[in-house]
Amino acid sequence: MLATGEVKELIIRPDMEMVTIILHDGAIIKGKKVTSTIFHMAIADASKFEEKLREIELRLGITEGVAVTYDRHSDITGRIMVLILFFALLMSIASRMKGVRSPISMDSFSQMGRAKFTLVDPFEGGRGVLFKDVAGLQEAKQEVKEFVDYLKAPQKYQRLGAKVPKGALLLGPPGCGKTLLAKAVATEAQVPFLSMNGSEFIEMIGGLGAARVRDLFQEGKKRAPCIIYIDEIDAIGRQRSGTESMGQGSSGELEQTLNQLLVEMDGMASKEGVLMLASTNRADILDKALLRPGRFDRHILIDLPTLQERKEIFEKHLSDIKLDSKPAQFSGKHARLTPGFSGADIANVCNEAALHAARQCQTKVSASNLEYAVERLVGGTEKRSHALSLVERRVVAYHESGHALVGWLLPNSDILLKVTIVPRTSLALGFAQYTPSEQKLHSKEELFDKMCVALGGRAAENIIFNKITTGAQNDLEKVTKIAYAQIKKFGMNTNLGPIYITDAEESGSYNHPFSENLHRIIDKEAQNLVSSAYQKTEELLKKNLDKLEKIAEALLEKKTLSYDEVVTLIGPPAYDVANRALEPVEFEKSLKNLGEKDE
Ligand code: ADP
Repeated sequence: MLATGEVKELIIRPDMEMVTIILHDGAIIKGKKVTSTIFHMAIADASKFEEKLREIELRLGITEGVAVTYDRHSDITGRIMVLILFFALLMSIASRMKGVRSPISMDSFSQMGRAKFTLVDPFEGGRGVLFKDVAGLQEAKQEVKEFVDYLKAPQKYQRLGAKVPKGALLLGPPGCGKTLLAKAVATEAQVPFLSMNGSEFIEMIGGLGAARVRDLFQEGKKRAPCIIYIDEIDAIGRQRSGTESMGQGSSGELEQTLNQLLVEMDGMASKEGVLMLASTNRADILDKALLRPGRFDRHILIDLPTLQERKEIFEKHLSDIKLDSKPAQFSGKHARLTPGFSGADIANVCNEAALHAARQCQTKVSASNLEYAVERLVGGTEKRSHALSLVERRVVAYHESGHALVGWLLPNSDILLKVTIVPRTSLALGFAQYTPSEQKLHSKEELFDKMCVALGGRAAENIIFNKITTGAQNDLEKVTKIAYAQIKKFGMNTNLGPIYITDAEESGSYNHPFSENLHRIIDKEAQNLVSSAYQKTEELLKKNLDKLEKIAEALLEKKTLSYDEVVTLIGPPAYDVANRALEPVEFEKSLKNLGEKDE
């Protein structure tokens, strides 16, 4: 084209390694008139292109060179344009193909407003959760049984003019069986169970939460009679702010969702057969409107299991694993060892025990596996590689022995179960494990003894090594908390009398809502209390130095001491433990009549 003089202009695009060739109007190539005067050509090296062009022009005898321009700016936009065109092409192909939905369409927007609930239909295969699968929780089961009855035979209630129950709010800490109970209601009543988590309603896009609530209830009505279950309802049921200025943004969205929920719940009154259950562990932050009578008919508290309930839960979960003896042999003992555990924790213990047994290639799960599992949940796994120097080991041994011995000598302390100096992955260098009583009320003396036990570690270090270490941080935290609580919350201080003192956080302000004078008195009294506990602890340990040394030396040698081993070393505890709670050694003997013993 150059030789025939048809080229009018060349545009070099260095970044795209391309040249655009523009021909004169009506150019003729190979004897034909061209239809388009613009051609593109890929080149290898844009920087040398013009040089070569001029050389060729010289050779061809062209004196007046072709105009050459460089286009350095449009290349990025050009690329983007090419990309966009490419995607547009892809999408148009994709949308024409059957079964492939283009990623952006109005359809997916409307889908977002749909409630993504989990549906458990009792008529479709599988055995659901029955009441007998929920261990303990007698009172709660009793309450929800009425709902089951209602769902099965609504006429019986309507005939007498009883109002239709709308539902129940299950309150309580996580892992205690709220979901389990709600599912059991559905299975027992043989109705579908629609469950959704509170957080699944929340989305950044306005109005979606409300749309999902609407959708969920619509689906519920379609399937009536049925149960709608919203887990962690606090995610949408938070207290509305009450200020209009906050009506925008995410809090506005939350309020809209909650309002829709309230509207739907009110609307349910006439539509019989849809029962609403919801669970939360933060009833305190729920909006008042949700808690008002008429919304949820019942508030059912599902608290951490008691001793008897833990025993039942243990039996339930132990029956699922292969044990080397009957579940009843273990359940009583382990229920005692696990105060404060939730149902989910217990399920976890049983599973850990089975895992441990499997790791050791056992054919059956034994008592030692269960003990290992409980200990692991309480203290974390052993970390044998976590080496301590000899000096540190001595300090830890005396520290733990100090705790154990003070507990041994005081009347109001829990029974020692085991003391160990094997470091744990939870960063503890050792611990003394007790069988805490499930007592709910504590006297001043008991709290004082608790402080002494906690200070036992620090005091022992001080007496033996005449120096103190950083190992007592946790203990000191506990002691300080107990001391301040006694003075500020329980009215146990004789100088201040039976008063309750509100903290800054409680009142929501930055300053203490009490006078500086009172502040000084509180601090002084707390100091006095802690130091008198410390003094008593030190005296006690000094008087029993021989025992302290015995325990510590045995601990250094064996790393772990059980209750029995401590008895062999220093004799039985100073006070009659039988009166306080069962001795650990008595567990086996008393299993038969455990049901009759109170806690
Ligand atoms: P929540 O809803 O209260 O957080 P879940 O009902 O989800 O707790 O319970 C979690 C798990 O804990 C259950 O799957 C079950 O294995 C176990 N669990 C909790 N409470 C009990 C109980 N009372 N009886 C049997 N298992 C329980």
